[in-house]
Amino acid sequence: MTIHKTRMLIIGSGPAGLSAAIYAARAGMEPIVVQGLQPGGQLTITTDVENYPGFRDVIQGPWLMQEMQAQAEHVGTRMMWDTITSVDLKSGPPFVAKGDSGDEYHGDTLCIATGAQAKWLGVEGEQAFSGKGVSACATCDGFFYRGKKVVVIGGGNTAVEEALYLTNHSDDVTLIHRRDSLRAEKILQDRLHKSDKISVLWNKTVEEFCGEDGKGLTHLRLKDTETGEESRFDTEGAFVAIGHAPATELFAGQLPLDPSGYIEVAPGTPKTEIPGVFACGDVMDHTYRQAVTAAGTGCMAALDAERFLGTLEVARDEMAGADA
Ligand code: FAD
Ligand code: NAP
Repeated sequence: MTIHKTRMLIIGSGPAGLSAAIYAARAGMEPIVVQGLQPGGQLTITTDVENYPGFRDVIQGPWLMQEMQAQAEHVGTRMMWDTITSVDLKSGPPFVAKGDSGDEYHGDTLCIATGAQAKWLGVEGEQAFSGKGVSACATCDGFFYRGKKVVVIGGGNTAVEEALYLTNHSDDVTLIHRRDSLRAEKILQDRLHKSDKISVLWNKTVEEFCGEDGKGLTHLRLKDTETGEESRFDTEGAFVAIGHAPATELFAGQLPLDPSGYIEVAPGTPKTEIPGVFACGDVMDHTYRQAVTAAGTGCMAALDAERFLGTLEVARDEMAGADA
């Protein structure tokens, strides 16, 4: 077992973790990034990215993340091929995290950037057509379906917001929900029902995403939850919006989480309840969930961590002085 010590330990290698690393490394904090099971994060499972600033032409998500990692390493970040399996936030600093490899990581500050994952239906065709007609992010991918007939699956705030957003690109949006009422807030429901571009299909579940290789998604196989009757629904774009799951199991009981499981931070900052522990990116943000916002809060976490280290080092110097 090896103990890796750093002034800033970063868990997660998506845009939030890598941006935190770039700032921390440039501030001389010699950060360690533990990459987890998805090095580069969620953008590595998408193709075209058109809304990350700095690139006039469409770029590829995996390429963007490789570049971010290369930049982080170039300025002095140590990348670790490991997954954190437990953390001790109560007795730090240093905060101790244990890796799947058996190694331990000790950070004078800790940056949690473990992200969130969209929930999927888990039905046939969903994975096969992911990125080829099936998406979990209308803000990210809606533009690629402009002028096309699209559907959104779900009945919560996210689904209704995604449907409303998609009307910017399409005049033919259908919300498909498994019950006969929405759980979305009334104000959103009112906007949905007012839109002449959105129809709702009630009491339907998606049983299969269907299409052809090379052509992408062409239609859905639906089932009526009341009659059991099956039907075909033609569409070229399906947005699954049944919620997100933040990766916060490791921190439950040690940090306050909101009712949806996201880490709670002081408003407008990445500061958690524990001084020296910061959370950035999708793991603390159920509203925006974009690469650029994740990168922004990663930057904020590194800047706040640097300030925290300043106070920690002053306190340590004072204690050393008192002991002498
Ligand atoms: P993530 O990218 O989720 O990264 C989390 C990281 O934490 C991963 O590296 C993972 O391995 C690591 N991790 C988790 N648990 C552990 C652990 N226990 N130990 C160590 N590491 C751990 N946004 C845009 O702005 N534009 C787009 O075009 C766009 N397209 C998208 C397309 C798809 C299909 C998806 C799913 C998302 C898209 N997004 C897009 C959203 C964007 O990807 C996220 O907002 C962003 O990646 C969040 O960054 P993050 O760093 O917070 O977390
Ligand atoms: P959510 O509120 O949990 O809603 C998920 C929706 O997906 C529900 O309608 C649910 O159906 C449906 N669903 C779940 N699993 C399904 C499955 N396997 N098959 C078919 N449908 C399925 O999730 P969310 O909409 O992402 O919202 C999460 C949280 O973020 C909520 O607290 C929400 O208020 C908040 N949020 C707020 C805003 C805002 O304030 N503007 C925006 C987005 C999200 P049932 O209704 O039948 O359970």
